[in-house]
Amino acid sequence: MYKTDIVIIGAGVIGLAVANELSDLSKDIVVLEKNDSFGRETSSRNSEVIHGGIYYMPGSLKALMCVRGRELLYEFCANNKVPNKKTGKLIVATEKEEVGSIASLFSNARQNGVKGLRIIGREEISVMEPEVRGIEALYSPETGIVDSHSLMQRLLDRAKAKGVSVVFESEVTAIRKDKDIYNVTVKGGNETTALSARVVVNCAGLDSDLVAAMTGLDIKERKYELQYCKGQYFRLNRKKAGRVKMLVYPVPNPVSGGLGIHATPDLAGGLRLGPDHEKMKGRIKDYSVDESRKKDFCASVSKFLPFIEERDVFTDTAGIRPELRDDANGYRDFIVKEEAPAGLPGFINMVGIESPGLTASLAMAEHVRKLVRL
Ligand SMILES: Cc1cc2nc3c(=O)[nH]c(=O)nc-3n(C[C@H](O)[C@H](O)[C@H](O)COP(=O)(O)OP(=O)(O)OC[C@H]3O[C@@H](n4cnc5c(N)ncnc54)[C@H](O)[C@@H]3O)c2cc1C
Repeated sequence: MYKTDIVIIGAGVIGLAVANELSDLSKDIVVLEKNDSFGRETSSRNSEVIHGGIYYMPGSLKALMCVRGRELLYEFCANNKVPNKKTGKLIVATEKEEVGSIASLFSNARQNGVKGLRIIGREEISVMEPEVRGIEALYSPETGIVDSHSLMQRLLDRAKAKGVSVVFESEVTAIRKDKDIYNVTVKGGNETTALSARVVVNCAGLDSDLVAAMTGLDIKERKYELQYCKGQYFRLNRKKAGRVKMLVYPVPNPVSGGLGIHATPDLAGGLRLGPDHEKMKGRIKDYSVDESRKKDFCASVSKFLPFIEERDVFTDTAGIRPELRDDANGYRDFIVKEEAPAGLPGFINMVGIESPGLTASLAMAEHVRKLVRL
């Protein structure tokens, strides 16, 4: 059996950020990824937004990691030539009844330590974004977009340069604790091998609850069970895409969930609409986009972007959020936990890492470093 210090399960943005961070602690780290390359799942199927930290519950990991992660991410991008742009963002109220929500979001964001926010009126909206219609908006200058593929590539390169091994087509199928080490069974092609490690970090995204369960943890009792939640995107035609420069969001609707269908410019000059928020019945990774949703998408965004018409819009991609099943209060935070109290010292679970996981990735890695004892 091959012995190593640390095994990281999953090479999405979280696993790669953790690998890069922990590579300062040990030269003996192995990242295991079941797909044939990095970032083939949620980390490459998202809006690529560097979030400000406006929406999350004050004091939650989502809020803390988003605010810290955003700072770290802009710094990392600048130092490592990762394409990004601080576009700014508007959350727009189009009806009088929504104005109260703008004030609540402003107050929530201030509690989270988000800087530079301003509430602006109709005139200033039309100066900033002439095509946007709204009676009031929350302006967030720090929000931006990032090239998530380049970000992951740089994290991978840096980790590898510091001695981390990243092994693709290697699926973890079992984990067994033996005294103070973990024996990890890995399936690659027709072969099954085994690795032992003192520390295991579970960054398995949509399968992170199942990987946690491999240790014998009762994921139902611990509320680690995931509910897949699909987010579909449509794309605006090239001609009209350049008419908006910032990210433009509606006021979130607590009933439909998510942040509301919004418009997100990308670094190539395109404009995407979405994602929507649809709870899935099973655990199938179905990334198809339902063309019949186009009407609803256009109806939602045309309230604040009236120039968008159905004939301008085409199906794009979809992603799946690894959401934790609802709690009594409806809010579920990221789970980042060293499981020593459950008899699993050195086993670190990262479960339910939905949005703003991309923004928060470097802060989450910093957080994990504090939990590792070698
Ligand atoms: C529609 C949508 C929009 C989003 N928009 C944003 C946004 O704009 N900004 C933002 O900050 N966040 C956003 N997010 C959230 C963000 O994309 C995720 O939080 C982040 O990508 C999670 O990264 P990850 O590494 O945990 O997961 P993943 O990228 O899914 O990586 C997990 C990896 O683990 C591997 N794996 C699983 N099981 C095993 C196993 N048994 N053995 C080996 N490998 C395994 C998988 O193959 C996968 O590569 C969005 C998410 C969605 C779905």
